[in-house]
Amino acid sequence: MKKATEAVRAGNRRENNMGGLNTPVVTSSAIEYLDDSEVRYPRYFNTLNHAVAADKMSALEGAETGLVTSSGMAATASILFGLLQRGDHVVFSEGLYGGTYALIAADLDRIGVAYSFAEPQTATLRAAVRNDTRMLFAESPTNPLMTVVDIAALAEFARPRGIVTVLDNTFATPILQNPLQLGFDLVVHSGTKYLGGHSDLICGTVNGPRDLVGKVREHAINHGGCLNAQDCYLLERSLKTLELRVRRQSENAAAIAQRLHADPRVGRVFYPGLASDPGHAVAARQMDGFGGMLSFELAAGIEPVAYLRRLRLVTPAVSLGGVESTICQPLATSHQKMPAAERERLGITASLLRLSTGIEDAGDIIGDLLQALDG
Ligand SMILES: *Cc1c(COP(=O)(O)O)cnc(C)c1O
Repeated sequence: MKKATEAVRAGNRRENNMGGLNTPVVTSSAIEYLDDSEVRYPRYFNTLNHAVAADKMSALEGAETGLVTSSGMAATASILFGLLQRGDHVVFSEGLYGGTYALIAADLDRIGVAYSFAEPQTATLRAAVRNDTRMLFAESPTNPLMTVVDIAALAEFARPRGIVTVLDNTFATPILQNPLQLGFDLVVHSGTKYLGGHSDLICGTVNGPRDLVGKVREHAINHGGCLNAQDCYLLERSLKTLELRVRRQSENAAAIAQRLHADPRVGRVFYPGLASDPGHAVAARQMDGFGGMLSFELAAGIEPVAYLRRLRLVTPAVSLGGVESTICQPLATSHQKMPAAERERLGITASLLRLSTGIEDAGDIIGDLLQALDG
């Protein structure tokens, strides 16, 4: 089945009493056990609404199995703590989500796990691998500079060395990119972003083979990051329109990137869909569309906060992936806590703005972004 069909149909369980088309929301935390082979409990990730949402994601990612968690961070934390042991070493690509970075910095040392950060290029990531490296964790495209990692090339390097590869696929979504098909072992999402898609749900997902996801689940059970039945259902419902939303967001972003790229009042535009983008060739190979996220620099002389205040449609807000277009200044939001020297090294300047393209009319979004340039 194609993605659009899987999004609507995969994983669904009919409601038996009345024949309703939608999955019933089973709110029970107490579940009879005598006639079941398995003890069921919402925190064990084995209830009906969990299974439907997880199975839909497994279909979309081409995975054997999956877990739905209470946030993207619960998913990432369960992967790191579920799979890493004292004495292991991990290679992380630079440009990870700030919360992931904070988790690594706060907790890996404490449990005796060593790690290195490397620039998100194949050569630098490979060079950071040591004899004791057990995991390679990357994001693609990255936030906010939309750097593209060559997923297949890394998988080819890591697999024969027994290194578990994990990709945070939040920005690309399972519609545009499937890391498992490219050879990675696990894929993680902040479902809070595109999967939920309406800025009203916080959740996360992990998908991959049964053995690895099983280990992640054991840890997740102990740490308790389960999602309640209503929110599992909300995720299931949202996923049904994922393909429609993401295709529109991706088309809109491409049109916006082209228009901004051509405007002298805009500096650099970071979008892998632009032919001039350094990640374009790899993105064209591993993605089916370039996504709804892009960043751009305002030309010298345009004050970024004043620019944001002049916008009438596009809303200055953190988070991303919703049906409405939102924009933020990474320096003041997602990358606020990063040391200034580090931000400068990466090229995250005050004039850099990150746009999460919504499903509104592309012309309306472009019109708003341009009118605000005039001051
Ligand atoms: C938001 C985000 C996360 C964390 O997800 P939460 O749902 O906020 O816990 C992880 N990775 C990326 C790329 C994100 O954008």
